[in-house]
Amino acid sequence: MPEPVLRIEDLSISFTLGGQDVDVVRGLSFDLAAGRTLAVVGESGSGKTVTGRSIMRLLPPAAHATGSIRLAGREVLTADERELQRLRGADVAMVFQDSLSALSPYLSIGAQIVQAVRLHDRSVSRRAALARAVEMLERVGIPDPAGAAGRYPHEFSGGMRQRAVIAIALVNRPALLIADEPTTALDVTVQAQILALLRGLQEEYGMAMMLISHDFGVVAKAADDVLVMYAGREAEYGTLRDIFHAPAHPYTAGLRAATPRLDAGGDRVRLRAIPGAPTSLRDAGAGCAFAPRCAFAAELGERCLVERPLPTMRGADGDHRAACHLDRLPVRQEASR
Ligand code: SF4
Repeated sequence: MPEPVLRIEDLSISFTLGGQDVDVVRGLSFDLAAGRTLAVVGESGSGKTVTGRSIMRLLPPAAHATGSIRLAGREVLTADERELQRLRGADVAMVFQDSLSALSPYLSIGAQIVQAVRLHDRSVSRRAALARAVEMLERVGIPDPAGAAGRYPHEFSGGMRQRAVIAIALVNRPALLIADEPTTALDVTVQAQILALLRGLQEEYGMAMMLISHDFGVVAKAADDVLVMYAGREAEYGTLRDIFHAPAHPYTAGLRAATPRLDAGGDRVRLRAIPGAPTSLRDAGAGCAFAPRCAFAAELGERCLVERPLPTMRGADGDHRAACHLDRLPVRQEASR
């Protein structure tokens, strides 16, 4: 079998803060194949954004990563600056939530795309790079692409700016696109358009996409597979169907129950928020980090408090796994939605 575009093995990341090491990601392993979209989902502080940034080696100097990140067959964690330059753009590109700060206010949109093309390949002339920029702006649905190439970021709406950021990210056809909360700052209608655009381009280019989100509604619209993270660790991994129709971790079920939706009559269903606050990474002890918020911890006695659950396979086939001591999630959690 060919190696996946992205293979992460036993990735751990710590930050040194005030002389103390704080673990922000622990023992993470997963594969992402070409043509697939993996959603990485969890509340703020779950480690999802740090994981995404580590693939680009965009972590602050206080961060220390161990394990392995293989991207297009090359190890990222030990790559030198030259290799990193090659990887960024050609093999991996990233789209962030805040399109305004992702763009330079001093350069036209066209000039920024030209820059991305020529940074990757100096042999491309400015004229040829500009032609590619216009083509790319058209591809991401910006009206009058030739005129738009000469305009500046502040002249674009939020949705159009995010389309321009996507054009910059994809102009070199990376093997992997990391989209970190790409629609969070947008209204619902534009959000749906941007998700459809990303999904369409991902299928057309055969890219792998890692979609980082706190929103299960976004995940449901775009993912093939889902990694649920809690307190820096994998809580659950599976196909979109596994995660939505047969969640095996109480945290996954809680996120799902907290997702806004409409009932058959078109009325908004009342939400059930997960009780308590996300576990502080400084406080995560020896047992299950979710225990203080879990409705089932008391039923399992001391075990959840003293023994950390490791990801174990659920079901006979596929790659559905959950890090929970429960063999099955009791139906009442699902029934109480
Ligand atoms: Fe809840 Fe225990 Fe499962 Fe953790 S291991 S999610 S505390 S039942």
